[in-house]
Order: sequence, then C-alpha cells, then structure tokens
Amino acid sequence: MEAFWNSVRPLFHPDPPGGAGAAAAERGIESADKAPDLCGPSGAVFAADPMALAGSKAHPLIAGTKVHLVTFGCQMNKYDSEMVAGLLGEHGAGFVPNEDDAELLVFNTCSVRGRAEDRVYGRLSYLKRRKSRDPGFLIAVMGCMAQKEGEQIAQRFPYVDLIVGTRQLHQFSSLLERVREGAPTPLLAIDESPKVEFGETVARRESRHMAYLTVTRGCNKRCTYCVVPYTRGPEASRPIEDVVAEARRLVNDGVVEIMLLGQTIDTYGYDLGRERANLTKLLRAMHAVEGLKRIRFITSHPEECQEDLWRAMSDLGDKVMPFVHMPAQSGSDRVLRRMARGYTRQRYTEVVEMARRFCPEVEIACDWIVGFCGESDADFEASVAMMEEIRFQSSYIFKYSPREGTPALNLEDDVPEEVKRARNQRLLDLQERISLEKNRAHVGRVEDVLAEGPSKTDPSRLTGRSRQHKLVHFPGGAELAGKIVPVRVTGATGLSLQGETVMGGRE
Ligand code: SF4
Repeated sequence: MEAFWNSVRPLFHPDPPGGAGAAAAERGIESADKAPDLCGPSGAVFAADPMALAGSKAHPLIAGTKVHLVTFGCQMNKYDSEMVAGLLGEHGAGFVPNEDDAELLVFNTCSVRGRAEDRVYGRLSYLKRRKSRDPGFLIAVMGCMAQKEGEQIAQRFPYVDLIVGTRQLHQFSSLLERVREGAPTPLLAIDESPKVEFGETVARRESRHMAYLTVTRGCNKRCTYCVVPYTRGPEASRPIEDVVAEARRLVNDGVVEIMLLGQTIDTYGYDLGRERANLTKLLRAMHAVEGLKRIRFITSHPEECQEDLWRAMSDLGDKVMPFVHMPAQSGSDRVLRRMARGYTRQRYTEVVEMARRFCPEVEIACDWIVGFCGESDADFEASVAMMEEIRFQSSYIFKYSPREGTPALNLEDDVPEEVKRARNQRLLDLQERISLEKNRAHVGRVEDVLAEGPSKTDPSRLTGRSRQHKLVHFPGGAELAGKIVPVRVTGATGLSLQGETVMGGRE
C-alpha cells in the first residue's frame, strides 16, 4: 500500500481540508476518516418513484432502498465506494445523509492500519441492538477487511447481512438481491477471483468535477510491512479502451479532471502485455479524450519509473499535471532492504533528477515510515537528510505498526513508541518548513486553479487545486466550480496558497 492513507498530519491528499464533508454526507456517501472531496449538487437523490428514475436497470428488490455508505481508507476505496454507489443507484436505490434513516448501511473498509479496523468493529458492535429491533435493516461490509477477515466478521457479527471482498464488488447489487430473496446470512463473497471486473457504471461521485478512476487493482510487490497484496490480490489491469470509455462517460457527466489510480501505477498493463498497454500509452490515450482537461495518476514506484514516463509527461503537459506521488518510505538502504522495497536511495534520487530534467515544473509528494523494525538513529538521519535534499512538496508520514499476515511480523518491532513518535514529529516539522518555503516561492505568480467549489469555512471563497496539486483558496462564486481559473498567489502557508482571481484571465 503506497500513500493511500491519512498520516498523522496529511500534507498531500486530494481532499481539501475543511472540504464538503457535510455535503458529501448529504449525498449518502460518507468518508469516515477525513473530509471527503468537495461534492457536486447535494442531496435529493432519493426519488419518489425510484423504479422510474432508475429506468431499465431498476430492480424491484433494490429500488427505493435507502442507503448510507461509509468509506474508510484510501482513494482506491473511495473509487470502490463510488462504483458500488453507482451500481446501487442504477438499480434504483437512493442515498440518505443520515445513517439512522438508512435501510442498508454499507461499510467500505480498510486493513492498512489496526485503528481503522477497530473503528469498523466498534461500529458493527454498536449496530447489534438496532438490528435486533429492526431485522429488515441491512448491514454490509465490503473491501479489504471483508476480504481479509470475512469469515471472522461473519462469526463475530452474525447479524451482518452481506460481506463482499475486494474482487467481488461489481456483484454487489446481485448479492444484495440474493439477501433480499432470503439467502442465508451473512452472505459471504470473498473468493479470490482471478479476473477483476471494473463495471460500466458511471460512479456516483462525491465530487462533481473530479473523478478517481482505478486502472489496476492489486499489487505484485511484496513490501514486508504491507497488507495490500493479501487483501487486493495480484495486479490486474483494465484495458486502455475500457479506461478511455469510462473517462468519456465521466466527461459527459461533468468531470474535467481524472485521477488514475493504481497501487503501483507504473506497472499498469504489464499483465495485459506491455506492448498493448502501459502507463505512457494510457496517458496518451487519455490525453486524446475530448473535454477532459486534467489527468493525474498515483501511485508511482521508484523501482518502476522509467524515462519514457517523464518524456510522456513533458509531451502531454497541457493535460497531464506535473505532480507525482512517489513514496520513498526510508532514506536508508539498510531499511529499504528490510522493507523489500526493491530500490536504493541512490535510485530514488536518480528518478527524481530524471523527472525534474524532463518536467522542471514537477512536484513530488512522498510517503515515509518511521520506526520500522531495526531502524537505528543513523537510518533515521538518512531519511531526514533525504527529505532535506530532495525537498518534497508534501509527505505522508507514518509510524510503523505491525500488521497481521505481513512478512514484517517476523521481524522485531524494536523501536520504542516514544522514539517513533519523536521521529515522526521531526519529519513532520521538517516537511512543514520545506512546504512553507516552497509555497512562499509561489507568491506573486499566477496559477491555473481548477475550482472545486465553495470553501466550507467561508462560502464566499472557493477552493481548488493548482497544476501541481497545491490547495488554493480564492474569492469567487459557485458559478466558477469546475472551471480553470487564473489566480494570483498573494499568500502561503505550509498547507495551501491564498490568492485572487486575475480579472480578464491571464495577463
Ligand atoms: S506491496 Fe509495496 S508496492 Fe505494493 S501496495 Fe504495498 S507498499 Fe505499495
């Protein structure tokens, strides 16, 4: 699992701080961990006549069901939630902002950290009483925890109705139909299907103008601390034509920016045959999608990034944004070896130099794990030096914690908690200083900002993202949402830029 997690203090994330969590929740899709993306028109999706609304795909056992969906974890999970919400919507389900009003409550779960699992277990325990009062109320658990711990969930919470693993999500609505038809519950669908289906539904997004689009699922790496290969299975890519077809559907639905998602996106297409599909081919095909204004992709792996990627980014720079999220995890070769990351610090630095040579504008976000098994003071100092040397735009920083089922469980978790905490804080402070310095360098410049929507704290201001994925706040009305607006930067913090729109466009 690369960066797909909220850090102690997330510096990079597509989610704007103080975003439209409430508005997204109004749409019945809630992110449990942090404020979700700004969303489009709120609420009003529960139709009086859901069968008529859903049209030909409406299903009598689903149409009219009031759904509330809670997402834990990463962007990949958000995409999965959006896809399942799209499927349910297509079958006539509606979404309610308050889970107390839901007839079906869905948890899309994350296994990367124990805390997220504990929160799901807590919420499931809490629902026992409601379920005994109202047996018609349905509970579904989907995603990584369902895949990894489906059997245990079924035993511990027998009142859960449906458990759907990461590779069965496209069947969510037919599984729900079976539950409604009276199939024994909990109904478990956690087979490790070798084939990954992505579906054709237009996802029901939290954000109107920006969409995630998963292009590969699973991961073929075996980083020793990571649970993803065991919860999401081996890498499976979606053919370029399918991705482009979904991109076109999204553009027709109002999307102007797409973020392509893959655990190691650089190896996209390898399972389909590199000649047929690879990341640069995909970027070129996406670039040709009419009406699509911005393309991003995450997450990059330093072992896999090749020169042709930076060449493609340079060639396609009007639409492919100069931003890369490439986790380093450590600046120490000794620790990188223990993590089985497959590269050295020197290799990482060379990749960054190559990226900057071809795309001087590119900004790089990073992930770090502090306190991994056996990390000495000298190892940690190597991470500090690397952060200082490369000067990332932002970083996610995690304290290592052992995860069940990972190879690192065989290593001694020997760095004391207080040392992990101190190292974590030191990297956070350093990154904050670097981010502030880098952001201040933008004061006076004009940035092209994709306006996402009104700021939650001040509706007279808008929130958006620059080409380099910097968060920008500026005055403006809701009519600018979804437009690319020239903004002169007037101020900066470590987390965001403030600015004013340039009247009459760029000077
Ligand atoms: S195994 Fe490694 S590369 Fe794969 S998702 Fe986990 S951290 Fe990322």
